[in-house]
Amino acid sequence: MSNFVLKAAVFPDNSVADVLIEDSRISEIGQNLQGDEVIDCTELRLLPGFVDLHTHLREPGFEASETVLTGTQSAALGGFTAVHAMANTSPVADNAAVVELVRNLGERAGYVDVFPIGAVTKGLEGTQMAELGLMNKSQAKVKVFSDDGKCVSDALVMKRALEYVKSFDGVIAQHAQEPSLTEGAQMNDSELSAVLGLKGWPAVAEESIIARDVLLAEHTGARLHICHLSTAGSVEVIRWAKARGIGVTAEVTPHHLMLTEQLVNDYNPLYKVNPPLRKQSDVLALREALIDGTIDIIATDHAPHAAELKDCEFSAAAFGMVGLETAAAVAQNVLIESGKSNWQRLAEVLSHNPARIARDENQGEAIAVGAVANLTLIDSQATRVIEASTASKSANNPYRGLQLKGQVVHTIYRGNFTVKNSVLQKVVSE
Ligand SMILES: [Zn+2]
Ligand SMILES: [Zn+2]
Repeated sequence: MSNFVLKAAVFPDNSVADVLIEDSRISEIGQNLQGDEVIDCTELRLLPGFVDLHTHLREPGFEASETVLTGTQSAALGGFTAVHAMANTSPVADNAAVVELVRNLGERAGYVDVFPIGAVTKGLEGTQMAELGLMNKSQAKVKVFSDDGKCVSDALVMKRALEYVKSFDGVIAQHAQEPSLTEGAQMNDSELSAVLGLKGWPAVAEESIIARDVLLAEHTGARLHICHLSTAGSVEVIRWAKARGIGVTAEVTPHHLMLTEQLVNDYNPLYKVNPPLRKQSDVLALREALIDGTIDIIATDHAPHAAELKDCEFSAAAFGMVGLETAAAVAQNVLIESGKSNWQRLAEVLSHNPARIARDENQGEAIAVGAVANLTLIDSQATRVIEASTASKSANNPYRGLQLKGQVVHTIYRGNFTVKNSVLQKVVSE
């Protein structure tokens, strides 16, 4: 269709208005607008399309777990219009050729904007800096760099990387895990890990790296982003750094906002994740920090793994869980159903803020005339039982079988429906 009208409660004040979408942009907002089709969305919430700053699409190299196509289809079902693809592929995205390949696969799939993240170090080995400048100058215009899956543990390498990306307003996204404190670690370090006989992963392994890196960010004046905060102590360090005016931003995953180490009790590898699920007191601290602005965004850390990597003994299983299709429902649970926050904050943490941190074009914008139509519409009253897998190739879904409130009904990417009535659409890509 060439144009259509959404009759919807327009964010942020939720007064019902018509939104006319023509040629990929919002061309008019008003009353009684005419279009080829008028779609009644008055029972839905119209929000800016979601942006995930932390997605593992697994291609190239691990296509048995996910591909750019299946991962971005999963993203569209979750209401996302952009994802940032982590660099721990095979080959590693540590040079211009690989980031351009991932970007092109994303364009071809046509479901969301795929922004490749570049590795900080060659081969994620933590020693030699990757081609940060060339990746930034490439067609992929990489602005976010991360060795995620591994920590940039060498302080000098981290300092140099921060200094380097500062020249083009880039950001280093740190997976904060001191390797010497987590060798062989399997789950949160606690009374429970002792009972289960699993090697513990202490909070200080995360907090010590964050403390070091916020000081390096202050020293260099560069932008630092901390991936997947998991402990109350990490929140305290970020709070201190922000009060001091340090240029740091932080993310939390849906699973660290909902799930605790207790789930590991029967050695189910579904709940094995890096960083590990922590205690209820950590969950509460993370929720509070998300609401008060200490934590800037929710990022999924969508980490699909083929069945053979998960359906095995706990100590042998891979770390990670999927999250794209359930992130919005978890956000609604934490921010809205709790009665503690609002839809404005939900749009900030799932759309505006991740796009701002990554300097994405045409994402995370206000719903206004002239903006590219990257939108999501949610039925906040609908309740659904979560299936293990729909679009994703992997079924390591920690919410499977649970009832969650909140359902993405339509996702609109560049003015086209990628999801309509909660069904994935075939898209015509360039
Ligand atoms: Zn990570
Ligand atoms: Zn990750």
